[in-house]
Amino acid sequence: MKTLSCQDMGMSDNFVAKGATEEEVMDKMMMHAKEMHKDMMEGKSDEEMMEMKKMMKEKMKDEM
Ligand SMILES: [Zn+2]
Repeated sequence: MKTLSCQDMGMSDNFVAKGATEEEVMDKMMMHAKEMHKDMMEGKSDEEMMEMKKMMKEKMKDEM
């Protein structure tokens, strides 16, 4: 299972996205971010979104 936490992304809340695949984890993190970190997501260009997704992949952890 793969996990990615908001704290890994430099945020202070305790949300952790979990999933079987990178795509699943990223979907869950994006959904959470759109809801809970609106100000962070607002005004992001496509390029910045790509950067953020890259960072998500790098920060993602493999857990048993
Ligand atoms: Zn969060």
